[in-house]
Amino acid sequence: MAQDTVVVLAAGIVGVSAALWLRRAGARVVLIDRDAPGQGASRGNAGVLAACAMVPVTQPGLMREAPGMVPRRDSPLFLRWPHLPRLAPWLVRYLSHAGDAETRRIAAALAPFVTDSVEQHAALASGTAAERWLEPCDYAFSYRDRAAFEADGYGWARRAAHGFEPVLHEGAAVRDVEPALGPGTGLLARVPGHGFVRDPGPMSPISPPPSKPRAER
Ligand SMILES: Cc1cc2nc3c(=O)[nH]c(=O)nc-3n(C[C@H](O)[C@H](O)[C@H](O)COP(=O)(O)OP(=O)(O)OC[C@H]3O[C@@H](n4cnc5c(N)ncnc54)[C@H](O)[C@@H]3O)c2cc1C
Repeated sequence: MAQDTVVVLAAGIVGVSAALWLRRAGARVVLIDRDAPGQGASRGNAGVLAACAMVPVTQPGLMREAPGMVPRRDSPLFLRWPHLPRLAPWLVRYLSHAGDAETRRIAAALAPFVTDSVEQHAALASGTAAERWLEPCDYAFSYRDRAAFEADGYGWARRAAHGFEPVLHEGAAVRDVEPALGPGTGLLARVPGHGFVRDPGPMSPISPPPSKPRAER
């Protein structure tokens, strides 16, 4: 590669990854951000290397379920009513993707980004101090019972189409796999081949040094 300087804008995990691979390919790289590296969403996320997470939230059934979620305070859909007029045009466009053909299209487009997350993170961190933050693990979905799992069958069919089949554990066997789960989980769908980042902030291989304590006056 020619020694031209490549400018990468934004130093989250996406920009840092791009910059590191460009450096490894021999390019000169300038990474630009208004803040220190890894301070955005890449700092405080859940750290799951979610290889099977290609199924979008917008999937068939969402239109049916969403209205029932809005009034429930414990539902995953939270709405600030005064924002509704401004939100409505976006919401209509968003919900228009909740059909079978769109869900398949989105899952197929996301799959190449997520299915090799574990391998990509390992390769990125290889030979750096960031290696110690990576842990292999399974990824599990908890259900009240088999009926609830089967009601989620559409998503599992999409994951299976991309090579991710769950191993099912039911009843007392759930606690053998994950003792922290209570009796409310009657079925655990465990998908091997995942991982997590123990602390996404310091994982950034070029994290800034800790800020110096302020001098006493
Ligand atoms: C609560 C939460 C949990 C999540 N959990 C997971 C998870 O478990 N697994 C997973 O894979 N993903 C998870 N995600 C998603 C994941 O965190 C993001 O997809 C990822 O961090 C996005 O990285 P990024 O580099 O694109 O953006 P960011 O990390 O947000 O970086 C964007 C950078 O752009 C900079 N920037 C913005 N505007 C400007 C400007 N005008 N000029 C200069 N710089 C600018 C910011 O300072 C920032 O450094 C989660 C997200 C959230 C919010």
